[in-house]
Amino acid sequence: MDLMEYQAKELFALHGVPVLPGETVEVAEAARGVAERIGKPVVVKAQVKTGGRGKAGGVQLADTPDEAVAKAEHILGLDIKGHVVHKVLVTEASDIDVEYYVSFLLDRSNRSYLAMASAEGGMEIEQLAVQRPEALARIAVDPLAGCDEAKAREIVEAARIPADVADEVTRILLAMWQVFVQEEATLVEINPLCRTPDGRIVALDGKVTLDDNAEFRHRDVFASYADVVAADDLEGRAKAKGLNYVKLDGQVGIIGNGAGLVMSTLDVVAYAGEGHGGVKPANFLDIGGGASAQVMADGLEIILSDPDVRSVFVNVFGGITACDAVANGIVQALRMLGETATKPLVVRLDGNNVEEGRRILAEADHPLVTIVDTMDGAAAKAAELAAGAA
Ligand code: GDP
Ligand code: MN
Repeated sequence: MDLMEYQAKELFALHGVPVLPGETVEVAEAARGVAERIGKPVVVKAQVKTGGRGKAGGVQLADTPDEAVAKAEHILGLDIKGHVVHKVLVTEASDIDVEYYVSFLLDRSNRSYLAMASAEGGMEIEQLAVQRPEALARIAVDPLAGCDEAKAREIVEAARIPADVADEVTRILLAMWQVFVQEEATLVEINPLCRTPDGRIVALDGKVTLDDNAEFRHRDVFASYADVVAADDLEGRAKAKGLNYVKLDGQVGIIGNGAGLVMSTLDVVAYAGEGHGGVKPANFLDIGGGASAQVMADGLEIILSDPDVRSVFVNVFGGITACDAVANGIVQALRMLGETATKPLVVRLDGNNVEEGRRILAEADHPLVTIVDTMDGAAAKAAELAAGAA
């Protein structure tokens, strides 16, 4: 589970990583009280699970409580890379002398942990890794040995963090490591870790991903940070329904059964889309083996509420759940959705009991549904419909 900045900072505070005081609000006017309590200039920050908020206008300084309200008003409701802002953090502003970058993460490919650190923080780390790879230190952290003081010093040195703050940054790395281990995170990142003009070091931003596999040992933390899923957060809503869904940036909604089939469907649609103005798959959605009417309805509902989607490709290979059951599922799902189903569906069925499945769909004769027998043909049809609806 990814945490929002304010949640990450709560864990930081608990383990001794220095953060500045702040409170979250969901209505702009409430920012006034927070700014008054802080009694200094504040920063108003969008709380969404994506980076680059600063560039998107989601991080703004406010000198007075009035200004804090105005900034909160502006930021609440902003759409940052598909995440609508429902909450802002109002936190004490800091003067910045230098920005550092520090993180611990799980390094799956090396079956190890990895520390990354740089004396040139602030910009997005992907960008730093590309533009100034030599400025980004990468130090392996043995999972059994962990990060002790010697390791933390090694990281600080490799990152070329200046000697006069080395002790404090070492201490912060040890506190971050404590967050990483005790909260069972797969990522703990601070960017920027800021050095103020008077030489203090504070975490101005925080990113923490908790290991979902460890949820049973951290029920309280997971429960208190569980998403109150926003109506416009497609991935969150899909997850709450137990669907295996990933939002992509195209226009053709995809539903299939089996991860392999869905992956190849994405390829086929992307290829077909090249002939139709470059339309692309809008999502990955694997409804698995069962494919009951309810799962089909849940899946269709998520996909149809994606404003980018212009057509939907339902690609099912009947196995244990035969095509007739899937066809009934589609028909019932469309009945359940009623008028909320507004975009054309291209259905390709194959496999066990395919004739009966196609017959059921043909008989239902739903005005939005087109049946195509082959996967390539169906992909081409879905791409054509998406391009036509543009
Ligand atoms: P991100 O863009 O989503 O990574 O959000 P950050 O929390 O990292 O904020 C983006 C940038 O805003 C930081 O790199 C800082 O330069 C700036 N910023 C954030 N907090 C403060 C603050 O308290 N004071 C000042 N002067 N700048 C800040
Ligand atoms: Mn940041």
